[in-house]
Amino acid sequence: MKIACIDVGGTTIKSAAVTVENPSDLKSYKLGAFSFVPTEANRGFDRIRENIHSSIAALIKKHGCERIAIATAGTVDWDSGKVTYATDALPGFTGYDFCRDVKETFSLSSTVINDATAAAVAEHYCGNPESRDVVLTLGTGLGSALVKPGILDRNCVEDLHLGHIVLHKDGYICKCGNQGCAEQYVSASALKRDSGQNDISLVFTRKEYAKVKADFFNNMRAVVRFAIENYNPDDVVIGGGVVEIKKLWWNDFTAVCGNCGRTTLRPAVLANKAGVLGAAYSAMCGKFDNQ
Ligand SMILES: [Zn+2]
Repeated sequence: MKIACIDVGGTTIKSAAVTVENPSDLKSYKLGAFSFVPTEANRGFDRIRENIHSSIAALIKKHGCERIAIATAGTVDWDSGKVTYATDALPGFTGYDFCRDVKETFSLSSTVINDATAAAVAEHYCGNPESRDVVLTLGTGLGSALVKPGILDRNCVEDLHLGHIVLHKDGYICKCGNQGCAEQYVSASALKRDSGQNDISLVFTRKEYAKVKADFFNNMRAVVRFAIENYNPDDVVIGGGVVEIKKLWWNDFTAVCGNCGRTTLRPAVLANKAGVLGAAYSAMCGKFDNQ
């Protein structure tokens, strides 16, 4: 079985074909080479949709995919694959019946899930499927999900919205409309904003950014602590682009974090593959009512 997998973010649409031999074993999924196209969100809904459709069409043409699996930014209804809420990062997506659109356009079985959910699913099923994991994904924003052991249905994965817990009540205005949300401090965007550097590895290696780094760790610790206190996970998994340079900061951060009791803190292992692999796994093993 070959699946056309798309990961729709506010900046880039990633796509790849995934070959599945044993659906229940995520480790056996073979991921083909990624293609990237700009989302072009600033050009509006129709343009984004066009870019998504052409990415899917290219995969189907090249690989003869029999199924479509999509991970997207925005809140997605698990059972229907409809986007129930999207920020300005994806204009016009709130209310978009994403799954039905793709299904009707390509006449293939299709599923759509939230990108942080997809990443969480992938990290969970690549680790220990029997554990209770909180997965944090640091990118443009801060995605978060709780993945519980058991059947992969709407109850298995819970979007925790930890990106929007208020860490600093007089802090930066967030896209959600509130002030001082965690994702304004615990994300790749925050590191870029606070350092003025596009290359975030510099934040962890140059002395001049010691304060940026310390603040980042303290804010991330607050989110991790909140997750542990409220959701009692076996593991807290930290993923997203920042984890690709984990050797520069992981040990320092876990030292700042201190004793986490029974909870293990671990870096995500799938890096930027998590979204598409999670989407593929959900397409094969997820229980949906209307997708
Ligand atoms: Zn917010």
